Amino acid sequence: MTVTRFAPSPTGYIHVGNLRTALMNFLIARKAGGEFILRIDDTDPERSKEKYVDGIKEDLEWLGLTWDRVERQSERLDRYAEAAGKLREMGRFYEVFETPVELDLKRKKQLNMKKPPVYDRAGLALSEAEKDALRAERGGYWRFKLDHERIEWDDLIGGHTSIDAASVSDPVLIRADGQVLYTIASVVDDTEMGVTHVVRGADHVTNTATQIQIMQALGGAVPQFAHHSLLTGPQGEALSKRLGTLALRDLREQGIEPMALLSQMARLGSSDPIELRRDMAELIDGFDISHFGTAPTKFDVADLTPLTAKYLHGFDYADMAEAIFDVGVPADKAEAFWNVVRENIDTRADLAGWWELMRLGAEPQIDAEDADFVKEAMALLPDTPHDGETWGTWTAAVKDATGRKGRGLFMPLRKALTGMQHGPDMSQLLPLLQVIKAK
Ligand code: GLU
Repeated sequence: MTVTRFAPSPTGYIHVGNLRTALMNFLIARKAGGEFILRIDDTDPERSKEKYVDGIKEDLEWLGLTWDRVERQSERLDRYAEAAGKLREMGRFYEVFETPVELDLKRKKQLNMKKPPVYDRAGLALSEAEKDALRAERGGYWRFKLDHERIEWDDLIGGHTSIDAASVSDPVLIRADGQVLYTIASVVDDTEMGVTHVVRGADHVTNTATQIQIMQALGGAVPQFAHHSLLTGPQGEALSKRLGTLALRDLREQGIEPMALLSQMARLGSSDPIELRRDMAELIDGFDISHFGTAPTKFDVADLTPLTAKYLHGFDYADMAEAIFDVGVPADKAEAFWNVVRENIDTRADLAGWWELMRLGAEPQIDAEDADFVKEAMALLPDTPHDGETWGTWTAAVKDATGRKGRGLFMPLRKALTGMQHGPDMSQLLPLLQVIKAK
């Protein structure tokens, strides 16, 4: 069975970058009728927060990215300790003592000498006496000893990938305080949970190389990997600093529709065009991981606004009725209301604004040169109730009386009645509109 997982660390809210990872994993599982696990990577007790766990779930629920079960790494620490014990017995662990400052210095020296900044395995050369002394002084932590060979896999996005293990530092798996790190925890989970496909950002490619060796050492099945390119801004600029402002909850707040966002994210960076999808089944159907490329993917948050509008304009009255009742439109006017405003909303929040205009009327907008004309026209406006014919018969009468026609006739009337230059078809709007007669 196909099993995928989305594995956020609960150290912040999900943004568009993580969403891409979540969505691809979700779609692969759903397309195959498999399982999608939400895995909370909360091994870091200081940085992990419960409010982010809740926030992540809320955001995924808003999008309809339902998971089959939740796993929490903090509840699986004994599993990681066991795996670490195994690796230690196999002689794949060694203790090291360098401080971050010392490591940084080593890296700088290597770079000066035009050598790759790979950990030099100095820990391996320490005698037991030296280790005892260092342990007492500062405490040691543990690295996994990579086999220096090529690590290869067929990436579902990147194609055949080959990394020379000698060009990668032996990964740290256990900290000095005993805390297990993501690299081993993730391997244990992926192996024990039967994960078949791991989709994540291209920033994880080196992790993948080391994780494949750890999986093999532990005798686990190696899943298929796909590394999607990272998102950039519209000009190709790094998005990392702006991701904080592209949290899903902010987009939700701005009225972006889930299906608009999902439609964009399921195609952005692939050879397939972005097409608006109306439901999850269509989205799943139109998704193919092999169509994605490795080039950085340009993302423009502004594209979500027209996509949201297009999505909303496609609603039938019946599907929008609840939202229309919610803003207070009475049942007998609700369908007519939808027909009037349908093409004139960008987000659901605009429904309330249109209803307010109809219910209360607009502050008339009358240019000085139109003042007399509008006054004359208003005197000719039939009493309510207005119907679909009213606008036509009224403007014909105004035309006869004033000699005005075309834009000079219609625009001042629209502005006087709605306070705006643009908006719905006036003959449809007028029957619903509270008319404030200009004085
Ligand atoms: N918690 C890791 C992250 O958010 C998970 C990466 C992975 O998918 O393995 O980067």
